[in-house]
Amino acid sequence: MSSPMSPIRLSGAARDAMTAVIEVSDLVKRYGATVAVDGVSFSVDEGEIFGIIGPNGAGKTTTVECISGLRVPDSGSISVHGISPQRDRDRIREFVGVQLQESALPPRLRVGEALELFASFYSNPLDPQGVLESLGVKDSERVAFRKLSGGQKQRVSIALALVGNPKIAILDELTTGLDPEARRNIWAVIERMRERGVTVILVTHFMDEAETLCDRVALINRARLQALDTPQAIAAQAGGSTLRFVPSRPVDEKTLSAIPGVQVVERKDRSVTVTGTGDLAAALINALAAMGVQVSELEARRGNLDDAFIRLTRDAASPGSEEVQA
Ligand code: ADP
Repeated sequence: MSSPMSPIRLSGAARDAMTAVIEVSDLVKRYGATVAVDGVSFSVDEGEIFGIIGPNGAGKTTTVECISGLRVPDSGSISVHGISPQRDRDRIREFVGVQLQESALPPRLRVGEALELFASFYSNPLDPQGVLESLGVKDSERVAFRKLSGGQKQRVSIALALVGNPKIAILDELTTGLDPEARRNIWAVIERMRERGVTVILVTHFMDEAETLCDRVALINRARLQALDTPQAIAAQAGGSTLRFVPSRPVDEKTLSAIPGVQVVERKDRSVTVTGTGDLAAALINALAAMGVQVSELEARRGNLDDAFIRLTRDAASPGSEEVQA
């Protein structure tokens, strides 16, 4: 998926010159027998929009909850502007804005009151009215939180994270439940935060969102860091390409899977979609031609982050697979 916005992304020497404001080192967190986070390390630079992607239950929320001081790691270390979120949570709260989960707000509290209250906790807050307006929920100012729709609650929770004018914002599932136009509006809010130099950690399961907004993404899978790079680099490294075509006669999945480079085979009616690496089109056309099968209505697409995500998480699930590390 392409996007209309094209953020500048730095790599190599330019990135080295930047200052890491968040450092996570060998983070481990267990819930009883469940290892939710297993040795995850990364750092986030000042002003960076850093995405955390991964399947459900991978350990994303636990990771950001440890960064914001809501959870205590079993081992490893976290530093946010040189401060430990576990030892000094009150100081962390002053400059880290966290998107609250729905249940964390009193249901009868009106939106405007909630914003004013949150703004009052900080020394240099943003104007609550302006924040509500930028998120398209100004009309809900006098409405009790419990009466809001899912999408409105979502926007108010973002407003609450931002009203304190934080240096760092941690946003978990930013646009879940929002319609496409609302998503674009929220993306524009994040772009404005980028312009103001706010560092953002964005947990998302939308790959287009990560591609559009994030300078780098960490893919966490089964409690471990599986990839860490720009969305483009991860897509190029693992995204491969996808071909859709109609064969002149049905070809079974096993035969298609055996063609060099083919990794995923899907079918819909007469049409077949294969995803894989290398010179996929040539390999496919030649292999099918050798079986007397012609290919028509061929469409090719270069891999994006979505493809890379599917490939990397699926590969990691199969025995003998290797981790891709930046
Ligand atoms: P994600 O955000 O990637 O969906 P989570 O960090 O929420 O993943 O969860 C990671 C793992 O930890 C999952 O197996 C989840 O069931 C488990 N888990 C999360 N929170 C708790 C909790 N409070 N108590 C017990 N297990 C939990």
